[in-house]
Amino acid sequence: MGLLTCQDIKNQVFLVIGTSGLTLTRVQTLLEHGAHAIVFTDIDLSSQESVPAITSTISAQTSEKLGEFSAAGKISWVQDRGFTLSDLETQGRSEVRGVVDGVFLTIPKAIKGSSSTLFVDDLFHKCVSARIPINTADDPEHCTFTLLSTFTKGDFQLGVTTSGKGCRLANRIRREAVSSLPNNIDAICEKVGALRRRIIAEDEKDEEAERTKKLEEDETGQEDDDADQTNKFNNLVLEFNESHQQKKKQRLRWLSQIVEYYPLAKLADLSVDELSKEYKQYNEQTAEVAAAANKRGRIALVGAGPGSTGLLTTEALQAIKEADIILADKLVPAAVLAQIPRETPVHIAKKFPGNAERAQQELLALGLEGVRAGKYVVRLKQGDPYIFGRGAEEYLYFEQHGYAPTSVVAGITSALSAPLAARIPPTHRDVADQVLVCTGTGRRGALPRFPEWDDARTVVFLMALHRIGDVVDALVAKGWDPEVPCCVVERASCPDQRVIRTRLKDVAEALETAGSRPPGLLVAGRACEVIVKLADDERWRIEEGL
Ligand code: SAH
Repeated sequence: MGLLTCQDIKNQVFLVIGTSGLTLTRVQTLLEHGAHAIVFTDIDLSSQESVPAITSTISAQTSEKLGEFSAAGKISWVQDRGFTLSDLETQGRSEVRGVVDGVFLTIPKAIKGSSSTLFVDDLFHKCVSARIPINTADDPEHCTFTLLSTFTKGDFQLGVTTSGKGCRLANRIRREAVSSLPNNIDAICEKVGALRRRIIAEDEKDEEAERTKKLEEDETGQEDDDADQTNKFNNLVLEFNESHQQKKKQRLRWLSQIVEYYPLAKLADLSVDELSKEYKQYNEQTAEVAAAANKRGRIALVGAGPGSTGLLTTEALQAIKEADIILADKLVPAAVLAQIPRETPVHIAKKFPGNAERAQQELLALGLEGVRAGKYVVRLKQGDPYIFGRGAEEYLYFEQHGYAPTSVVAGITSALSAPLAARIPPTHRDVADQVLVCTGTGRRGALPRFPEWDDARTVVFLMALHRIGDVVDALVAKGWDPEVPCCVVERASCPDQRVIRTRLKDVAEALETAGSRPPGLLVAGRACEVIVKLADDERWRIEEGL
């Protein structure tokens, strides 16, 4: 495969030899790029006996155009004789001793064949040995370079090649690629260029200012201690170089981030001044962040939502992307974990019945270790960190150890999003005017204190399904209506979400029959049948998927 380059051919001399329709195209391309074209529409084959003439006559239109260009002094059209191989080394610029800078051969296809092969071969080899780039139309074997299908707007250029597989295809691909670009791509290039120049100018200004300052300091120092002079001077220069290099690096990093991450359309909209302003802000911020980061690490408690990445907050996503280390719950679903950059270390709490406490302690210890090492620790928690997630316990733990979390990022809790995913409105006029979120698991696995029965309330039970039989018994004993509509929602918002609609009296049997698919929760109350209602004789209904 060829190497793509962008060549400056201004003032170079190219020969265009041939009569096909491409002759004019090549001439125009050369003119557009500021090169000089010498056109031959005839070939002198006198040296090659037995080869019939291989040029045909040129079309009237080509002839007319070439005439115009020639009259205007834009090209040299040699009409009084045919091309000979010696032209290759005599027609070029004097600074390269007359050797031409390139050749386009545009013999019409119809007359290509055995008769012309000899000439084309000869020309090609002569070019190769004289290191003259040559392009023969429709004949890749006789090309040392090919042209790309290009798009040009201002200083922006896009070129496509299929390495000879088809120029129509290349054109089509180029068109499609271009259609996906903002139409002011030229302005965007201009802008980034201007920004770069400005940043470089700022660098130079800084450099000058710092140099003067350091030199002045040095001069003052000299009066105190002459003997130390050279030593001190060297140190100062070193110091200056370091801080300056750092600033310079920061500037370029900012620019490359803008270029990498800004949506192109946004780049187009902002003026150079606005962008410079953003840069100043960025600079101040990074200085602050760098100062803070140099001092100590930090911790964020971040809610990961119920499971779907669509329900992650942008703040959570940002934390996930920026973290130096992530400590996640076992419950945090794969789709969310998949957002973590590959190089970020992730620890997942391996909490199982019996070792939950130890696993939690391990995770907290890891968090402390990370933050003490100056890292940005993100503690990623299912749903919302403060809804049954022990989030506040963790907050207090870190605070006690001198590292109170610098941010706690809210998450969409499963308690309120799982009902929605199951088409249940937890509040609904005349049906439910309260929502209660409670747990089915009390301290050390005992049953918790359950709420009283209330006909106008939706109750969401988290961590209740593994002992659903006990929960139902306890509720009924407390006076709950066994006929109240209920719904088990498992893996809410995930692709394998499952919903079981039933009534309180049947929920244990329904779940046992279906087999559990944690994490899941129970919703109870008349709100469960606002949108979807079971038939009177239907004991339960299972809905699979989102
Ligand atoms: N902080 C979390 C809850 C942690 S307690 C939140 O705000 O969502 C863990 C319980 O949450 C699980 O036992 C289960 O009842 C519930 N849960 C978490 N994610 C769930 C999901 N995607 N679908 C249904 N229930 C879920």
